[in-house]
Amino acid sequence: MDNKMTPVAATLIDKTEEVLDIVTLSLKMTDERPFEFQFGQFNMLSLFGVGEVAISIMGWKDDLLLHTVRSVGRVTHVLTAMEPGQQIGIRGPFGQGWPLESAVGKDLVFITAGLGCAPVVAAINYAVQNRQNFRRIVILQGVKHHQDLLWLPQYEIWRDQHNCQVLLAASEEHNSKKHWKLGMVTELLNNASFSADNCIVMMCGPEIMMKAAIKQLKELGVAEDAYYLSMERNFQCGQGFCGHCQIGPYFVCKDGPVFHYPQIKPWFGLGGF
Ligand SMILES: Cc1cc2nc3c(=O)[nH]c(=O)nc-3n(C[C@H](O)[C@H](O)[C@H](O)COP(=O)(O)OP(=O)(O)OC[C@H]3O[C@@H](n4cnc5c(N)ncnc54)[C@H](O)[C@@H]3O)c2cc1C
Repeated sequence: MDNKMTPVAATLIDKTEEVLDIVTLSLKMTDERPFEFQFGQFNMLSLFGVGEVAISIMGWKDDLLLHTVRSVGRVTHVLTAMEPGQQIGIRGPFGQGWPLESAVGKDLVFITAGLGCAPVVAAINYAVQNRQNFRRIVILQGVKHHQDLLWLPQYEIWRDQHNCQVLLAASEEHNSKKHWKLGMVTELLNNASFSADNCIVMMCGPEIMMKAAIKQLKELGVAEDAYYLSMERNFQCGQGFCGHCQIGPYFVCKDGPVFHYPQIKPWFGLGGF
């Protein structure tokens, strides 16, 4: 897409209900030009007369672009209620993605909470498909309710890969804890196997979770230089014009959503940012 302010039309081909309130949209771009993206980037999805929201790019499947959306408010209610055949607008891709090139030869540690997994799914799939480039892959995912562990079949595929550890946690009590541990995602770090001095940690989810994870990673001896965070803020433009997503001198939409932790450390976790 050349002009990133003009949406390109896409047709909804298929809609998968993942769990209550969360759907994956499979979209066919009407624009024939190649659409390339970095893992961790996002698109702005728009509905005429409704509005526009930032949604992470999950990847491609059979020439269809995938976006997983949780229905939380005005625009996402309408997006998740769409039926195949309807059209939406897409602008993007926007932002900076995960540093997979500089992660070659290292252990990859993914720490995600809630639907926070969405920005890392494409990166995990890439790492799995290019297994020879990386050492161990560790995937830690935490949710509040076990029903929100929406990628159970995908977790099994990742778990079956060579040297790939998948640990899941849900923080509510439940009779059957077949697939997950009771507790917070950060508690899973105690059972994770990776080299503290040769890893890249990619995190996404609520900031309070990332703050707790950073504290624990430091205790495990992982240097700050190894942390990358995907930040979430509301914004309108996706290109640093509206200013709604500013963190210190940076804009989440343009300089993020993936940040190297030392870059945003002075403002991370502070109220008002
Ligand atoms: C880089 C990036 C990537 C993202 N990726 C994804 C993704 O892959 N999937 C995804 O589902 N989301 C993603 N999001 C989040 C998504 O952009 C927001 O959920 C979306 O903007 C919400 O828009 P909305 O119009 O549906 O909700 P809004 O109506 O704007 O509501 C947003 C929130 O405010 C609350 N709210 C609304 N009205 C009120 C009110 N009057 N009083 C109090 N609270 C209120 C809602 O309950 C909701 O929690 C991403 C965000 C960013 C920045």
